[in-house]
Amino acid sequence: MIRTLKKQLFNSQFFLPFTLLLSLVVFFLFASLLNSAFFIYLVAGLLITIFYLIRLNGHLTRYKAEADLQIQNLYEQRNLLDAEMDKESASIQSFRKKIINYSHLKGLTERLNMCLYTEDTSRALSAEVNKMFGEKETMIILYLLHSKTGELGISISHKGQMKINIKSKKGDIFDQWLVKNMQPLLIEDTKSDFRFDLDKVVSEDPRDIRSMISVPLMIGNKALGILRVDSPKPDQFDTEDLRLLTTIGDLGAVAIENAQLFERVERLAIRDGLTDLYLRRYLMSRLPQEINRHMRGGTQLSFLMLDLDKFKQYNDQFGHMAGDIVLRTVGVVLAEFLDRPGNLVCRYGGEEFAVLLPECPKSKAVEIAEEIRERISQQTVILRREKTNITASIGVATFPVDAHSKEELIDKADQALYKAKSEGRNRVCAA
Ligand code: GH3
Ligand code: MG
Ligand code: MG
Repeated sequence: MIRTLKKQLFNSQFFLPFTLLLSLVVFFLFASLLNSAFFIYLVAGLLITIFYLIRLNGHLTRYKAEADLQIQNLYEQRNLLDAEMDKESASIQSFRKKIINYSHLKGLTERLNMCLYTEDTSRALSAEVNKMFGEKETMIILYLLHSKTGELGISISHKGQMKINIKSKKGDIFDQWLVKNMQPLLIEDTKSDFRFDLDKVVSEDPRDIRSMISVPLMIGNKALGILRVDSPKPDQFDTEDLRLLTTIGDLGAVAIENAQLFERVERLAIRDGLTDLYLRRYLMSRLPQEINRHMRGGTQLSFLMLDLDKFKQYNDQFGHMAGDIVLRTVGVVLAEFLDRPGNLVCRYGGEEFAVLLPECPKSKAVEIAEEIRERISQQTVILRREKTNITASIGVATFPVDAHSKEELIDKADQALYKAKSEGRNRVCAA
């Protein structure tokens, strides 16, 4: 457009004077060749031409000024359009980033919905955060607050796909700041952030931490943990990243709360409320699997049936509440002594307990039963400043030595227990 304007200006500036000069040259040729009177016309023509040229010059100057102004305006418009285009492309870029983030959030929600337990929820949450913020150097840490002590504990920490062990297991000063303030935290560069004493960080954790974003995981006013992303490079995160991590944290907090509730309900469904031991129902569901496993492996599975002696009498003498304390104490003795992977201790009902000992031959099971009997008899329960004791009788049966089915195994252990009772109590009898 600017080029066309310039062309127009060129045409009008040179076309008219050129035509006039051409006619004067023609006149001059006529005058010199044909008639000298033509010189008078030539002078008149020259005067008219000069007059016309002066006027034309005025017009052209005005026209040029207007054209310059127009060109200036067009340049300005072009600059404005350029700026607008830059702005538009920046917002397209930001929209594109937002669309990617939303699709990540959708993926995160779908993945979290499939998790039932705290462990897989933590794993899914940190894996999705890694997809969004994960670079080679970026560390992702998820802390969960211990429900009883209120202390921070690392649930998962990794760099890319690699699991990393963090020295400060209960969090460093940045995490403590978060626990205290319960607010999202953005640090562009730890070296220039006046809120934190960097020497303290270095002494706690040898990792180089220069920038980070961290958010509390909250449900209402209840804090569940902290989700943190840090980097050894400064200026790796901005407020937009912090906003995204806050949304992820909100979704994660709901998922973790659900998983913890699910675990609590599941625990209530299989654990006894008084002793926290497994319920008979759970033992019954595990027993067939264990029998099959031992049958395939050709190993022995032992089963103990334990009943407290004269417990009714104890209840009558010290009260039902005291009886409950004794049941809880016996539960702790059993759980602590038999705390090995695979062992299963359950409250079979009332003052009866059952123990499943995998890969345990009969002779070993009898030894263990004897140790349990001994420990229970030596356990004192202080009630109203009075030392009280209780004893237990135990029946032992082993698969496949004594029984070939679940029912037979329980029955044989029960018969052995009955024998122990009839032989005077506080003893172990084997089938
Ligand atoms: P034995 O030596 O023959 O086993 O005598 P015992 O008195 O222990 O046996 P019995 O079956 O006659 O009595 C069991 C008692 O256990 C009766 C009941 O009051 C008590 N008991 C059962 N469940 C609970 C409980 O949850 N809490 C309390 N405190 N007592 C319970
Ligand atoms: Mg009983
Ligand atoms: Mg009893």
